[in-house]
Amino acid sequence: MEKSGYESCDDVRKADLIIINTCSIREKAAQKVYSQLGRLKQLKRKNHRLILGVGGCLAQQWGSQFIERVPFLDLVFGTHNIHLLPELVAKVEKSRAPVVRIEFQESVKSLNIPVPNNNGRVSAYITIMQGCNNFCSYCVVPYVRGREESRPFRDIVDEARSLAYSGIKDITLLGQNVNSYGLGNGGGHDFADLLQEIEHISGIERIRFTTSHPKDLSDKLIRCFSRTGKLCEHIHLPVQAGSDRILTMMNRCYTINDYCEKVDTLRAVCPEISITSDIIVGFPGETDRDFQATIDMMKKIRFDNIFSFNYSERKRTDAAKLGDTVNASVKRERLQTVQSLQEEHTLEKHKALVGNMEEILVEGPSKNSRDDMTGRTRTNKIVNFRGDYELIGKVVHVRITCAYLHSLRGELTGEEVT
Ligand code: SAH
Ligand code: SF4
Repeated sequence: MEKSGYESCDDVRKADLIIINTCSIREKAAQKVYSQLGRLKQLKRKNHRLILGVGGCLAQQWGSQFIERVPFLDLVFGTHNIHLLPELVAKVEKSRAPVVRIEFQESVKSLNIPVPNNNGRVSAYITIMQGCNNFCSYCVVPYVRGREESRPFRDIVDEARSLAYSGIKDITLLGQNVNSYGLGNGGGHDFADLLQEIEHISGIERIRFTTSHPKDLSDKLIRCFSRTGKLCEHIHLPVQAGSDRILTMMNRCYTINDYCEKVDTLRAVCPEISITSDIIVGFPGETDRDFQATIDMMKKIRFDNIFSFNYSERKRTDAAKLGDTVNASVKRERLQTVQSLQEEHTLEKHKALVGNMEEILVEGPSKNSRDDMTGRTRTNKIVNFRGDYELIGKVVHVRITCAYLHSLRGELTGEEVT
């Protein structure tokens, strides 16, 4: 949008263009969009030039119905049309009539968007593929983001190089299932090859990726954790549930035994690896016994952290045919149990780091104190410590002194790594 003369502003009341990026994965996120749009309606009344748009997968799903439901909206664009944003905004400016564009494109052109200014950031994301072919029974992603398609290998490497040139040190490669990168159209390169190639880009110091589907996590990729020096020791490996019966109903294509074996291999190859996960509670038909299997699995694996969700029924998915059978209060209780158990595990993992020397990539000032800097360990844990602004973007050695649930505290050792 900068090329069209727009610049970012930090006060929504002064904006002439507001785009809300939406998510349809769970009902709660969808509801938030409507309340947010309700609040923005008053700004439209005050500023007649204001263009209000929605993108993302709720926009994809709703299309022109969005305009019917929210008549003051100017623009609705889908998941494959992001690259057309300047064109679509120009169309609204000219016609002052609502514009809707949600067609699926056949190629991943929509992901080739020029790299923005880094604005002092040290980390950035690169989308390496779009869509998903897995059709987990609860999930709407394959319907709203289309079939899985990988971006060309060279485009991704070039983007990583531009980011490195602009000062980015830490890159996270993004896809719904990065393990299947390259199947079909990566030009003969798989995900492990991509990691190796980015490893050679000078300036990039840390490489991360998300998300990895356990069924496709290959030994070749696991071995990268011991071989690829810049690949950080962290994997997000969503398990979803601990009961094989529920995993089958979810169409996840692995058993808990398979999952535990992958975790064992990861820990054997890289003992310090941090493993995080996603868990859904209250999938249709989940019994107390099924739920207990999730708790047992958590106690066995002891994740570093998890994202946990109440099952949310999504139209068009296979699971929607089963009905939303687990009572809301039971779901709430189960979620609470999962979250309390995870808090114990997270704190235990954090406490085990006290006394350790960690490499921290310094991101900027901490939220709570202007005298403190904040950064992350290679295992993706947040560490705050006393430090100066000139450390931003550098990797420093910090000794961990205190462990909390959401972060760690440490002391600079005076030894700079880069
Ligand atoms: N592609 C990733 C996840 C994408 S969605 C993967 O397969 O791991 C992110 C998370 O949202 C999922 O891992 C799942 O835990 C959760 N999720 C997806 N659909 C959901 C639903 N209908 N209800 C509750 N949680 C859901
Ligand atoms: Fe959804 Fe499953 Fe695809 Fe992840 S792998 S996006 S959970 S369908």
